[in-house]
Amino acid sequence: MKYVQQAMDTNWVAPLGPNVDEFENELSRFTGSPNVAALSSGTAAIHLALIILRVKREDEVICSSFTFSASANPIVYEGAVPVFIDSETQTWNFSPPHLEEAIKDRMKKGKKPKAIIAVHLYGQCAKINEMTEIANRFEIPVIEDAAESLGSTYQKKHSGTFGKIGCLSFNGNKIITTSGGGALMSEEKWIVEKAKFLSTQARENAPHYEHKEIGFNYRMSNILAGIGRGQMEVLPLRIQQRRKIYQNYVEQLSAISEISFLPEMEGTFSNRWLTCILIDKNSKVSREDIRVELEKENVDARPFWKPMHLQPVFKDYPYYGSGVSDDLFERGLCLPSGSNLEESDQAMICELIRKMF
Ligand SMILES: *Cc1c(COP(=O)(O)O)cnc(C)c1O
Repeated sequence: MKYVQQAMDTNWVAPLGPNVDEFENELSRFTGSPNVAALSSGTAAIHLALIILRVKREDEVICSSFTFSASANPIVYEGAVPVFIDSETQTWNFSPPHLEEAIKDRMKKGKKPKAIIAVHLYGQCAKINEMTEIANRFEIPVIEDAAESLGSTYQKKHSGTFGKIGCLSFNGNKIITTSGGGALMSEEKWIVEKAKFLSTQARENAPHYEHKEIGFNYRMSNILAGIGRGQMEVLPLRIQQRRKIYQNYVEQLSAISEISFLPEMEGTFSNRWLTCILIDKNSKVSREDIRVELEKENVDARPFWKPMHLQPVFKDYPYYGSGVSDDLFERGLCLPSGSNLEESDQAMICELIRKMF
């Protein structure tokens, strides 16, 4: 409220101003990325990342299939072709062997992919070393979709700072929020300068309105950046809270052998954005049984993201996989994980689940 009030008091009610600058500085300090542009959404960040990497009509872009549609939609905005790849079982994120298989097969078919969109779901970092090695070997730039993994690290380095471009989201459901918002990060200053330019309608430096490129209205409002500044002050606490929620679920459901969790892969630290459970293949109780049972008590639990290669809108695009993400979707459930989840509510949820087994 203090930062929003400051914006009002100083009349910085616009998609620029001191809160935007300061929010960017704070994100930069927190993630270690030297350059950050605050934008209107995570989707806008991914869209601009593709444009900055010169993804054009008919170009191909590799993308994790197991994700939210906003990872892939911007590929289609540009008239490019998403090529989806499956997950692996250790992180649930993209499978390095399928990444390599897809690159080689697309090249054999005559087109080298222009970019890779690597997603870190539910706070778990994907296999960063393999990603970097494959991307470097084929010289394909990586866009990290870190919308769900702000604060998650691999070997103490923040998600979103490994690829050429990193994208964050501050939508209402994320670990911190500006109601709606996002950010684009890069080691390379020109990339972030370009994102700021394109997100403010691509106005050339001239006294009149001069345009050489197609621009977008994608910059973050100074009011919303004020919310972001306040949120940055509680981000470490939010991560702590989410990790505690995860730990409580693990402890309270540990007696049920049919339920498993995603352990942190060695070297990674997860913000535990959502606590996700997998139900054993042979379990008599399915994830849908649990979801419906919880719903009866007004508890909102959701199936995992439905993979993009199974989505009607994306089903005709190329896909490389072996059924891992299909299986995750069949058996996975996201449990209530909001930072404000009361311990008593969490105990009630666990009791409902225990009763079913
Ligand atoms: C939320 C989300 C996005 C999109 O971010 P918005 O700010 O909502 O546009 C992209 N990718 C993933 C994986 C997300 O969870």
